[in-house]
Amino acid sequence: MAVLVYADNSGGSVPNSALEAVYYASKVAAEKGTETIAVVIGALDNAILESLGNYGADKVLHYSDDKLSDFDSQSYTRVVSDAINSTGANVIIFSHNYASKSIGPRLSAKLQAGMAVAVMGLPKIDGDSLTIRRTVYAGKAFADVTISSAIKIIAVTPNAFSPEVTDKKAAVEPASVDLTDSDFGMKITDTNKVTDKVSLTEATVVISGGRGLKDASNWDMLEEMADMLGAATACSKPVADMGWRPHSEHVGQTGITVRPNLYFAIGISGAIQHLAGVNGSKIIVAINTDSEAPIFKAADYGIIGDAFEVVPRLNTAIKNLNG
Ligand SMILES: Cc1cc2nc3c(=O)[nH]c(=O)nc-3n(C[C@H](O)[C@H](O)[C@H](O)COP(=O)(O)OP(=O)(O)OC[C@H]3O[C@@H](n4cnc5c(N)ncnc54)[C@H](O)[C@@H]3O)c2cc1C
Repeated sequence: MAVLVYADNSGGSVPNSALEAVYYASKVAAEKGTETIAVVIGALDNAILESLGNYGADKVLHYSDDKLSDFDSQSYTRVVSDAINSTGANVIIFSHNYASKSIGPRLSAKLQAGMAVAVMGLPKIDGDSLTIRRTVYAGKAFADVTISSAIKIIAVTPNAFSPEVTDKKAAVEPASVDLTDSDFGMKITDTNKVTDKVSLTEATVVISGGRGLKDASNWDMLEEMADMLGAATACSKPVADMGWRPHSEHVGQTGITVRPNLYFAIGISGAIQHLAGVNGSKIIVAINTDSEAPIFKAADYGIIGDAFEVVPRLNTAIKNLNG
């Protein structure tokens, strides 16, 4: 009974979060004494498909039908369930992201499969059951959940595992499924992509600003810092609500959850709803004029100071370091 992993295809590349999911799947497969099979949908270079072996995949099923070039949860569910049928896999791994949130529940209903999301640890296998640790209450607590259905679905939190990379190559097998119009739930008529920006959920460094920055025009210094560090920019909810930054950058309980290695909170008070989306960050650096701001309780490093003085000085220091 193989372990199947859905590896996201992000416009011709496989994002880090998907590589982590492949690695996680290979660990589960090793524990079960079985093989790891990755499912990839849409056009992708053969070398990239083979390189999933570096992260532990033994085999890659590649569904490259032109009809599947745009993400569509209904048809993609059909493909993944076809892969489950053809491989007999009984553990299905996703990265905990948009794809898992839309494909996972459909699969779960279709296959009567138990599903655990926001998973933080490898499962303990006990006969036909898996017990897994996941986060609950917006990351403030953990719960251990046991899945005992015949097919089990796990969505792994991004940046929770550091893959060990080998030089193994995966065997790539072209795969197809007969799709009709009724397999497609929607038709994408137009797409607008922010192509030159680092993806917020994938970023290892995030530079985030709050209401303390006073105005939309003051983000230049944060963008300069982000460019130098290869970081993504983010913001608190009121900043997005006021239209200073796009809603796609809003992090927190009602926004995006990020888990970068380094999170800069600049002019952000550290409200509980904000922290819910960022408290999985490995290191938090806070810059705030108010020494009593709650963000300092969550921060690993704090600078009590005016962002308009501190950030330009940091930028100069980074420039000097970069030569
Ligand atoms: C149901 C609900 C859901 C919510 N969801 C979210 C969410 O997902 N994400 C989110 O962010 N919020 C969310 N909020 C809002 C949240 O409660 C806070 O109001 C919000 O996070 C505050 O944003 P802020 O830190 O940018 O602003 P403020 O709280 O106004 O903080 C600004 C900070 O900037 C500091 N400052 C001022 N001037 C400077 C300066 N020159 N240099 C440095 N620091 C300076 C101040 O000392 C202050 O600490 C939610 C609220 C509710 C009720």
